[in-house]
Amino acid sequence: MTRMSGSRTQLYIDGAWSEATSDETRPVINPATGKAIADMAIASTADVDRAVAAARAALETGPWSQMTGYARRGLLLAFARELRDAAASIGETATDDMGMPLMFTTASTIVAADYVEYFAGWADKIAGEVVPTPVPGALDYTIRHPVGVVAAIVPWNAPIYISISKLAPALAAGCTVVLKPSEEAPLAPLKLAECVERAGFPPGVVNVVTGLGPGVGAALVAHPGVDKVSFTGGTELGRVIGAEAARTFKRVALELGGKSANIVFADADLDAAAMGATMAVLMNTGQQCIAGSRLLVQRPVYEEVLGKVAAITGGWSVGDPRASTSQVGPLISERHLDRVVGYVGEAAASGRVVLGGERLGGDLADGFYVGPTLVADVDTTSALWREEVFGPVTVAVPFDTPAEAVALANDSDFGLAGGVWTHDLDTAHGVAGAMRTGTVWVNSYLAMFPSAPFGGHKESGVGREGGRVAVEEYTELTNVFLQLRPV
Ligand code: NAD
Repeated sequence: MTRMSGSRTQLYIDGAWSEATSDETRPVINPATGKAIADMAIASTADVDRAVAAARAALETGPWSQMTGYARRGLLLAFARELRDAAASIGETATDDMGMPLMFTTASTIVAADYVEYFAGWADKIAGEVVPTPVPGALDYTIRHPVGVVAAIVPWNAPIYISISKLAPALAAGCTVVLKPSEEAPLAPLKLAECVERAGFPPGVVNVVTGLGPGVGAALVAHPGVDKVSFTGGTELGRVIGAEAARTFKRVALELGGKSANIVFADADLDAAAMGATMAVLMNTGQQCIAGSRLLVQRPVYEEVLGKVAAITGGWSVGDPRASTSQVGPLISERHLDRVVGYVGEAAASGRVVLGGERLGGDLADGFYVGPTLVADVDTTSALWREEVFGPVTVAVPFDTPAEAVALANDSDFGLAGGVWTHDLDTAHGVAGAMRTGTVWVNSYLAMFPSAPFGGHKESGVGREGGRVAVEEYTELTNVFLQLRPV
């Protein structure tokens, strides 16, 4: 559990834990049991103002403003050590908070520590460049400044990983951050603030304010003291946030939804492809932006691959996310469960439900569990094929040629990720190059590591997280031109 006053969470502002100045709270529900486990404090406008002011003071006048990249690297490495040491406890909090099985939430914290270490390595390597000029006897160079105060607004589906994928590059670049967790899963990000505190960051460098999106989130996006909004969440909200941020010329990064295509060619290792297709959807109970939820299979092996996916999917163990044997946990909320089951219900008219599609009962009746689901022969104009379901639901269609597969894959408003399964070099490179997505995995799915740039094409977003480009996106350039006196 995290820092509380009774059952009520606290805010982390200016290096100290404090009560929200408003009395409002929202219950935090454990999706495995349907029971409240804490009351999330709802920050007031005054709390948001205080957090932004603390971040600005740390940026402009505090010890952080004077720190070199070398010193920031040291602090980030200390932060990574704290994360590793606290992985089990952060994992338990995240599991109770949002239902991801414990083995994955603990692993996710260790991966988060890897990300922080990677970005620590960039902190002392951020450099401008010397620019050629057409003017004799002149010197021109660029300086990279931190972009400023960053509002990091994160969703509930991967609260540790997504918070860190914003915090780590922002801090490496010298920015300060106000983190706003999702109201559906605020507890793990608050635990991250405890690691920030133990690592010894100066006050105000990282602040965490909890609350509702339209209140606290919107206040941050509109706040004149915020320089950049880094948002991860749904596409429709991203559209609103992008427009609102533009009104005050804030820099903005948007990591949004997806409906990724996973394409299996007849020459592929079909067992590996079926395992990859299953993992692509069942990890985190399908509540992941990169879920390979559209399965495209070349016609001669279509039924064979569906049979393999159904067999593997049926073998994954669904249950209490605290149990070491559970691979699939509950969905985040009852409302979300109704939405997921509703999608499958609508599609049953046009497609063939091979597996699942219903809420699970028995011992799991109190939690928000839905069975892993496979729907074949789906109408490619249906909502189930085109919209992000965000549940353990795979929809499948056959195709004949590589060109048809690419056309089907690209016929989407989204462009986040995709998979290609083949041993033919021409097909692998040709299809990967033709897919309009930010990431393509070949004979693999879900491989994520901190040096790889990650982000979306089309309505899946703007900007990149991961790699050098992620650090650069937290900087602002100044070009310096010097006319030198001849010697
Ligand atoms: P969401 O869009 O409902 O909420 C995301 C965050 O925005 C929350 O913290 C919420 O409180 C806040 N918010 C809500 N209204 C706001 C407003 N008016 N102003 C400012 N902030 C506001 O998303 P969710 O349901 O928490 O997460 C699921 C979505 O996130 C899915 O669409 C998923 O694809 C997407 N996602 C994308 C990525 C990626 O990297 N591309 C990663 C994970 C999740």
